Amino acid sequence: MNNDPFKNVLEQLAEVNSLIKLDEGIYEQLKEPKRLIRVAIPIKMDNGGMKVFVGYRSQFNDARGPFKGGIRFHPGVNESEVKALSAWMTWKCAVVNLPLGGSKGGVIVDPRTLSAGELERLSRGYIRTIYKFLGDNIDVPAPDVYTNSQVMSWMLDEYESIVGHHAPGMITGKPISLGGSEGRGYSTAQGGVYVLEEAMKKIGLDKSAKIAIQGFGNAGSFKAKLLFKDGYKIVATSDSQGAIYNSAGLDVEALDKHKANGASLPAQAGVATFAGGQKIDDIFAVEADILVPAALENSITIDNVDLIKAKLIVELANGPITPVADKILEQKNILVVPDILANAGGVAVSYFEQVQNASNYYWSETEVLKKLKIIMTKAFDEAWEQKVKYNTTLRMGAYALAVERVAEAMKYRG
Ligand code: NAD
Repeated sequence: MNNDPFKNVLEQLAEVNSLIKLDEGIYEQLKEPKRLIRVAIPIKMDNGGMKVFVGYRSQFNDARGPFKGGIRFHPGVNESEVKALSAWMTWKCAVVNLPLGGSKGGVIVDPRTLSAGELERLSRGYIRTIYKFLGDNIDVPAPDVYTNSQVMSWMLDEYESIVGHHAPGMITGKPISLGGSEGRGYSTAQGGVYVLEEAMKKIGLDKSAKIAIQGFGNAGSFKAKLLFKDGYKIVATSDSQGAIYNSAGLDVEALDKHKANGASLPAQAGVATFAGGQKIDDIFAVEADILVPAALENSITIDNVDLIKAKLIVELANGPITPVADKILEQKNILVVPDILANAGGVAVSYFEQVQNASNYYWSETEVLKKLKIIMTKAFDEAWEQKVKYNTTLRMGAYALAVERVAEAMKYRG
């Protein structure tokens, strides 16, 4: 089993290289991040003691524009993961044709064990250690797993205090009052809905399709809510504490309230304790036509891939399917909309946020959604064209499109 995310990146790169035949020198450069930063962040804890947290920033490629990528606070953060996520960000920005490169950051921490004060000090501490490598024309962070607009706000404030001027475009996913964009909160999910609808058309699925969503965080819960509002049937969902199923469809609004109410309690209410469905052991085994992994990488592996009954998988999470499991899905003719395309809505609206910050002029939610839909459906069509051209998977079609675009920029730079 191969669950080393950066090894997966290299395997995917080798596979796309066999199709598009990169220049040897460019292929070699794409095997490593341009810069990998490892930092130790000392934080004063509430009990008066000091704790040192380890963090990373991997700046993979900036041939097409400034590095761009989220910051994850999670106990499982490691060098391979951050490198992999930074490579995927590079392909993602290229597949949707944004003038941005790719990066990713992370801190090894379980933020649920920190007080609000400790979390703020850690967010500020992370920025103090890497601020020289950040900036709207250098590298622009955003939220990822277990970070949110509050964390972005502290990070922005710390950065601006150090550099001595306003710099809202140095970070995205900010609250509206600090220069955030309308629609950013649910943009990853919304972009995922646009490509889901395109993919459904390709294989003849309609609104009666049953959908299962693994993960009920920012990406997963918004996707569930958007689809539920649109009249789709979400039959199952899960979080880190368990999974829930209702063959008639879950009441997603009620489930969201259940989870949100729990959020104020010391132990957050998991989806599995929701009364509107039955608790199940494995979300991947449910009868569903569409599966949306929206939790963490390497969720679908050789060990559970055979449980899957869906005809369509839309990867809202980054890297949720291992390459070996991916091959099995291909053999079974299950259509997979790859992460770099399916979850690019978040970075697309992050880019809109930067554009609005740069012009200090802000768009309506309707304008944002209209622009997002154009970007996502165009990228889907272009990736599909490459899939047909190379007679390959949609993942490799998207990779061909993205990696060629990055390689072209690198070639011009010489
Ligand atoms: P989040 O922290 O808001 O949510 C993560 C969710 O996954 C939570 O519900 C958590 O309980 C659940 N989870 C964790 N382990 C699980 C497990 N073993 N089984 C089932 N559920 C589990 O994070 P998020 O921002 O929603 O990110 C989820 C994925 O989407 C990540 O891969 C992230 O990189 C990707 N992504 C997020 C964004 C964004 O804008 N938030 C953009 C692009 C990609």
